[in-house]
Amino acid sequence: MAIVPSIMASRSSRVAFLSLGALLSTTYILLPGHASILGSGGQQQFVLSDHAPAKRVAVIGAGAAGSSAAYYLKDYAQKHDFHVNLTIYERNAYVGGRTTTVNAYDDPEEPVELGGSIFVQVNKNMYEAAKLFNLPIANYDTGSPDGADQLGVWDGRQFVVTIHGDGGWWENVKLLWRYGLSYTRTNSLVKETVGNFLKMYEEPVFPWKSLTQTAMDLDLIPATSTPGSQFLTTHKIGAPFSSEVIQASTRVNYASNLGHIHGLETMVAMSTDGAMAITGGNWRIFHTMIEKSGSNILTETAVTNIEKIPETRTWLVKAKKSNGEILEDEYDDVIIATPYQFSNITSQSIKAPEKIKYNDLHVTLFASPYRLSPKYFNFDKDLVPDMILTTLPTDYDQESRKVGPARFWSVNILRTLDRKLENGVMRREYLYKVFSPTYWTDEEIYEMMDLPKDSNALTWSYRKLWQAYPIEEPRSTFQEAQLDFGLWYTAGMEAFISCMETMSLSGKNVAANVVEGWTTARRNAEIQSSKLL
Ligand SMILES: Cc1cc2nc3c(=O)[nH]c(=O)nc-3n(C[C@H](O)[C@H](O)[C@H](O)COP(=O)(O)OP(=O)(O)OC[C@H]3O[C@@H](n4cnc5c(N)ncnc54)[C@H](O)[C@@H]3O)c2cc1C
Repeated sequence: MAIVPSIMASRSSRVAFLSLGALLSTTYILLPGHASILGSGGQQQFVLSDHAPAKRVAVIGAGAAGSSAAYYLKDYAQKHDFHVNLTIYERNAYVGGRTTTVNAYDDPEEPVELGGSIFVQVNKNMYEAAKLFNLPIANYDTGSPDGADQLGVWDGRQFVVTIHGDGGWWENVKLLWRYGLSYTRTNSLVKETVGNFLKMYEEPVFPWKSLTQTAMDLDLIPATSTPGSQFLTTHKIGAPFSSEVIQASTRVNYASNLGHIHGLETMVAMSTDGAMAITGGNWRIFHTMIEKSGSNILTETAVTNIEKIPETRTWLVKAKKSNGEILEDEYDDVIIATPYQFSNITSQSIKAPEKIKYNDLHVTLFASPYRLSPKYFNFDKDLVPDMILTTLPTDYDQESRKVGPARFWSVNILRTLDRKLENGVMRREYLYKVFSPTYWTDEEIYEMMDLPKDSNALTWSYRKLWQAYPIEEPRSTFQEAQLDFGLWYTAGMEAFISCMETMSLSGKNVAANVVEGWTTARRNAEIQSSKLL
């Protein structure tokens, strides 16, 4: 049994569970077979009939969900002999939504993920799209550039665990001794839970109409309706593994302690074996999906209003471009692919989808020629680990939703950069990422490096406050995808599992339902007309 983390830790924010996932030696890289009735594998190609009027579909949002909805819709429509005219509205100037990069030192050669960073091989939509589109999958360094520990979990006062990641037998023995049966139990539980979730890709579950009913059918409600802490206790998984390893993972991935994230999302946070990213940015998958869908993409165009057109089965979508121009168009189907509560869309005819609370997450990227200071972390080695996750100290209220004495969720070295100084000399610098619940100031960065502010040790920084993911409180019902006839919503999925892949799956599910609806209507019309003959 391999228990030493495979270290991609130095490269990303969702890495924690990479390392920790590998620590669990998970082997559930099940790539479920393509089995949708509307899927592409081995299906008969229908010939498009020229006389059928094109279906008009609006997609609001060009993130993981919207781009996937457009991509799969185009595919399903073609296979079922429908012409489709797709328009994607995106209020940003770029596509990708919460999956986006910025350039370190404003250098386009140095893109860095600001949002969704990592996906795993079991993420079928993203993995298969990356391969199909020939997008380069990032290679990770397998070690610290300076020979430091690759991973450490800090409780705000001390490191409770550090992992060098060299695969040595002594390290394995130490981890086995410390965590005993807890990690093999976690491994089995993750396998079982994620295995049930993966059935959502396949017929007869896919495409589903009701997320709530599907969660019940797949026996996932016991996980979604229980806090992670309780879900683990029920399965005989306890501290220190839960607090030092699993909670470190829920904090870096969902900015949540175990008492405030449901069991299913806790399992997802631990399900990170085979993690990867697209060189240049994961948004490239969604960008290519949009290209392949043949959609008319309107960036810098915010949808402002959606209304049902009386006595028709169509919708009127109003939008405003950044230059003030107003657009109005009529559609057969409208797919809202963004959390409605943040969309600023008004409507007299929509019953607004459920509003859910999102976590405020401050992401701070910065570069410096210096490493973080062992003194700040009260660490007795010369170098602190490249990836620092955090947890609550044992004497702290374990039911707290707060970040605790650590004050941040994670900080890690993403990679080293070669930077040309004004005198032409090349200097190696470190590119860091901090996740925190509050704004992480320059002073706090200097404090972490134990350097005075006038040392000019901070050579580049970039900050963004995200409503990154919902606060995944336990629940047993979920917002359904169909809001009305011809009106669809993807973000209900986020209270169930929030990540790039599940949002892509949610978009794909809506696409399948849309085309299934058209197919049913066409069949009914055919039956009607044959009766009339
Ligand atoms: C910091 C951070 C780290 C993350 N790390 C990971 C990770 O490592 N792995 C992972 O799988 N997931 C990660 N996630 C989560 C992941 O990025 C999201 O779950 C996913 O990208 C959401 O996709 P979406 O399409 O549902 O929504 P979004 O990406 O939010 O897309 C919605 C789009 O709709 C647009 N929009 C909104 N209103 C309107 C309007 N009125 N008119 C037109 N357009 C509108 C928005 O501009 C946006 O582009 C992370 C998220 C963040 C913020």
